[in-house]
Amino acid sequence: MKKDKTFCDLSKEYIAKHLDEIITLIDKPKFICRKCARVANESTHLCKPVKLKNK
Ligand SMILES: [Zn+2]
Repeated sequence: MKKDKTFCDLSKEYIAKHLDEIITLIDKPKFICRKCARVANESTHLCKPVKLKNK
């Protein structure tokens, strides 16, 4: 997965191809994209990252 690519940009085809890699990047999500509602471990993978609150 390219460093400058966000999950928000990914096509369905790319996600299907790289699913295993993507799973390792979202297994402990700390951020949510407030535009696309996608989650990620690192904010760099989202276009409008917002930190998730710890419960
Ligand atoms: Zn986004």
